[in-house]
Amino acid sequence: MPEKTLFSKVIDKEIPAAILFEDDLCVAFKDIHPQAPAHFLVVPRKPIARLSEASSADHAVLGHLMLKAAQVAKEQGLDDFRVVINNGEGAGQTVFHLHLHVLGGRSFHWPPG
Ligand code: AMP
Repeated sequence: MPEKTLFSKVIDKEIPAAILFEDDLCVAFKDIHPQAPAHFLVVPRKPIARLSEASSADHAVLGHLMLKAAQVAKEQGLDDFRVVINNGEGAGQTVFHLHLHVLGGRSFHWPPG
């Protein structure tokens, strides 16, 4: 049995987190080191390591994550927000369980750093 990811432990409530939303496919919780006044993660219950390892079988869950990111952002009072997926170490990924970052409450630069 592969070792549980950090986020699987959050999902299974073995590690405390400020959970904003959960359903049968995903969990949204506040980032522990927020990079904006609002910063939460949307994480599939299925421990897909990173976006590039998702397959066509994950089509529905990937769409679900996007829709829930927008729903929770709205519930958090965010009109404008940024959604980020870091795919791989070189892109800044540190937790190898797919997650969408949703950041808001300040303005953002483009291109990102
Ligand atoms: P990434 O660098 O894209 O893999 O993002 C991982 C994110 O997970 C970072 O923004 C961390 O601050 C966040 N993080 C790490 N551990 C926890 C935790 N226990 N609860 C909430 N967020 C976490």
